[in-house]
Amino acid sequence: MNNFTFLNPTKLLFGEGQVANVGREAAVFGKKVLIVTGGGSVKRSGLFDQVMDHLKRERLAVYELAGVEPNPRLTTIHKGIEICKTEGIDLVLAVGGGSVIDASKAICAGAKYDGDVWDFYIGKAVVEKALPLGVILTLAATGSEMNGGSVVTNWETQQKLSTGSIHLYPKFSILDPTLTYTVPKDQTVYGIVDMMAHVFEQYFSHTENTPLQDRLCESVLNTVIENAEPVLKNPEDYEARSNLLLGGTMALNGMISMGMEGDWATHGIEHEVSAIYDIPHGGGLAILFPNWMKYVVDERVEKFKQFAIRVWNVNPSGKTDKEIALEGIEKVREFFNQIGAPSRLKDYDIDDLNLDLMAEKAVEREGTIGRFKKLTKEDVKNILTMSL
Ligand code: NAP
Ligand code: FE
Repeated sequence: MNNFTFLNPTKLLFGEGQVANVGREAAVFGKKVLIVTGGGSVKRSGLFDQVMDHLKRERLAVYELAGVEPNPRLTTIHKGIEICKTEGIDLVLAVGGGSVIDASKAICAGAKYDGDVWDFYIGKAVVEKALPLGVILTLAATGSEMNGGSVVTNWETQQKLSTGSIHLYPKFSILDPTLTYTVPKDQTVYGIVDMMAHVFEQYFSHTENTPLQDRLCESVLNTVIENAEPVLKNPEDYEARSNLLLGGTMALNGMISMGMEGDWATHGIEHEVSAIYDIPHGGGLAILFPNWMKYVVDERVEKFKQFAIRVWNVNPSGKTDKEIALEGIEKVREFFNQIGAPSRLKDYDIDDLNLDLMAEKAVEREGTIGRFKKLTKEDVKNILTMSL
């Protein structure tokens, strides 16, 4: 394994009823809170009113930014930054899914920066300070509730880019599984795919001698796979929702891949698709990931063989390593189909019109994308073509 430094400063409050602690947690950071929400789900569920009550009980002054889009947009983030700067906000409180959290991180960074917050996403500046962020998570998926990453879409330039910083880790995150009961089936499925994809991005690595990390990754995958069906059958299954929620957090809080080099090409390619077609992140990943796996399998057949046997219970007897590996990849596709995830770009009415453009943009920054196999523009186009 490689050398590493590990720090994750996010305080988690997990379980039913933990929202009651939001006032106390928020009051630590000052008097003025900006609540950030999405398209209305937290208002319909009554969560927003509950949160307001708890904050008011602590005599906090509350400001609001509603309407953050799935695949959050820079224009909305600018509005949040403006409120922070004019009102002197002390804490940003994200109440929602990954999009609301990522937008809130951008607002936290932008509020302490004189230039345009987009500078952090295009690599023109590095986040050196940020307002503190609190989170109440309503959707198990991104892991953004316990990491320093943020993904934002700039519609003017049709770019969906990410940034990351230790300053953007939430100070606290409240994870109550009952808040995810109302997540619709399709979003539950996208969340399952996204958390599995996060593990894949870290697991398929050339770093050797990582037995503990491998088993941690496999445990997260097994847990998510086992709990998918129960949640889809009964959206109010508390234990299954809890396991998915913790699974999503563990998948991307840095714990399972210490000292390993991740890949992240598939996320990068998916962001190019989303930047043009505005499709759900998890839907795009479900289409692309099995094709990426087939494309790169020869880079490290033995890792794919281990994946097939340990995660998908592929019976190895009488088969070559490559056959076992390919059977494991087939199981990924079968599982995604079984839970109702999309399998082709056609499912979103995407044809070959922009394949060149997406491939070009995917490798724009470094000339290639990914680390497990450094994909050229041609490689990316091949994977996109396999995904049509
Ligand atoms: P999301 O975009 O935050 O939310 C998707 C939809 O689910 C929204 O329409 C939202 O409605 C709804 N929703 C959320 N919670 C709900 C609930 N409890 N009940 C009913 N509806 C609910 O989805 P996400 O998958 O969490 O986030 C996706 C974004 O995160 C993408 O932009 C992706 O690129 C990014 N991402 C970030 C990271 C990271 O580490 N930072 C990692 C992977 C992906 P409302 O808007 O009405 O609330
Ligand atoms: Fe993701």
